[in-house]
Amino acid sequence: MNDLGNRLPEQAVYYNINNNLGRELEVIYQILAKLLLVSACLSAAVLTHAAETKPAPGEERAFAAMKAGIDIPAPAPARPVGEGEGPFDLLVIKDVVLIDGAGAPPRGPVTITIEGNRIASIKNEPPEEIADGNTHVIDGKGMYAMPGLVDAHAHAGNPMQGLAGPVVPPEYVFKLWMGHGITTVRDVGAVMGLDWTVSHKERSAANEITAPRIFVHSMFPGGEVVDEKGAREWTATVIRRGADGVKLRGATEAASRAVIDETKRLDKTTSNHHDQVGVYKVNVLTSARWGLDSMEHWYGLPEALFEDKTIQDYPPDYNYADEQWRFGQAGRLWKQAAAPGSDKWQAVLNELVTLDFTLVPTFTIYEANRDVVRARDREWHADYTLPALGKFFMPNPELHGSYHFDWTTTDEVEWGRNFHLWMQFINDYKNAGGRVATGSDAGFIFKVYGFALIRELELLQEAGFHPLEVVQAATLNGAELIGVDAEIGSVVPGKKADIILIDENPVQNFKVLYGTGHMRLNRDSGELERVGGVRFTIKDGIVWDARALLADVREMVREAKTSKTD
Ligand SMILES: [Zn+2]
Repeated sequence: MNDLGNRLPEQAVYYNINNNLGRELEVIYQILAKLLLVSACLSAAVLTHAAETKPAPGEERAFAAMKAGIDIPAPAPARPVGEGEGPFDLLVIKDVVLIDGAGAPPRGPVTITIEGNRIASIKNEPPEEIADGNTHVIDGKGMYAMPGLVDAHAHAGNPMQGLAGPVVPPEYVFKLWMGHGITTVRDVGAVMGLDWTVSHKERSAANEITAPRIFVHSMFPGGEVVDEKGAREWTATVIRRGADGVKLRGATEAASRAVIDETKRLDKTTSNHHDQVGVYKVNVLTSARWGLDSMEHWYGLPEALFEDKTIQDYPPDYNYADEQWRFGQAGRLWKQAAAPGSDKWQAVLNELVTLDFTLVPTFTIYEANRDVVRARDREWHADYTLPALGKFFMPNPELHGSYHFDWTTTDEVEWGRNFHLWMQFINDYKNAGGRVATGSDAGFIFKVYGFALIRELELLQEAGFHPLEVVQAATLNGAELIGVDAEIGSVVPGKKADIILIDENPVQNFKVLYGTGHMRLNRDSGELERVGGVRFTIKDGIVWDARALLADVREMVREAKTSKTD
């Protein structure tokens, strides 16, 4: 029976503010109203006026946040001299073992030469005599080179974090990404505002800031724009304003079809979080047939596999607006779908492959559901999690993703089984020739930027991927999804130089990619050592010292903790 009423605090009336945009705006306005009542520092006239002012397309969420008194952080600071070196006329990485990202096994030693921002050659021999001038040589002896990672489901912060404290500053997020070798992100939603996100995209492309390449999907306001005409106009506007695509969530059927069609017409891409409130009508297969490029998370996939029902088996007293209910029942979803290997399972899988559809499972963001203590107490929180972000992660019905109010052994066991079936589909999809890309959704549910994507690599391996298939998913597949695989995504001559260098073999153990490294006993000295962590992150021919970037992040966290007055 539902004892939720007893579990939740009496005043918890605003839980779950991220169901869909319309609802979210509504709830943020409610929070604003609450703030007004409490503080009485704004007049009712201001609220009315604020609620009537219309944000520009792509600015809906940032606008709502600002109206609720949440500050969108200042833009990332310009890159100081010495933070990143290059590009060079000639950059030579010698004596290194190469994992090219395309699927080839590690090979080496090789010499990689880079001219400006492009890979010029990869040779199985030592470098020729190097001319003087603007030349830089990295001795790669004992090192591994692989393509920069792609986080295909990223958020450069989220205004909702502002309900717990200051929203994470972009410098913090960008340095965690670059410190983990992430050289490309797809920001699915641009929830900090389209202008804000596109401006960072452009400054990163010009290497004016320390940041990965940023590709921007603007979040479609499905609760407000419901018809075809409005959806086409909104889509054309955000693309004109710099978006690389559109993310759908909870939109009407007419609007969804129009967004997908209009985006395709303008040669851009679409992603979709198939909200459970509409998935009985539009599941993953439905929108893939309309031309959707990628699905996010798992929503809408088990529903496409239903055989003996058309709607998830919700308990009668279920309430979607309560996130513990929502995620608890979601953990009992995959077992309601067609069995692995069944005709239905194969038919859905094959059709999605034929449609050239991409799955971005983001296993990592749901990991707390099968082991909440592990996610909450990760060793890196102490040095790398800003106090306000840590507060945002803790159970609170008012905050999206912070729903482990009373998470039980049974919930975790159910989610463990759920993961098993979900992972099996993702692995089968890969084996059938389908594209799977890595994404983290960090910034929610105890997941810290950078670290969360490395964990996703481990989880894909758990799903059945060979480590080289994992690397492919995390590099080339992400580049293909974004449509930039001609330029990045693998280490081959002709492509741009986005390369990670590391002292350990990541294919042998992905844990060496964590910023905190990997703990290993030195059998000679008898000492426990920390090994690994990315050494250099090369983006666009510029070489960053990854450890220095992470040291900057630790300093930001230390400062935020010591300056805390409350
Ligand atoms: Zn997300």
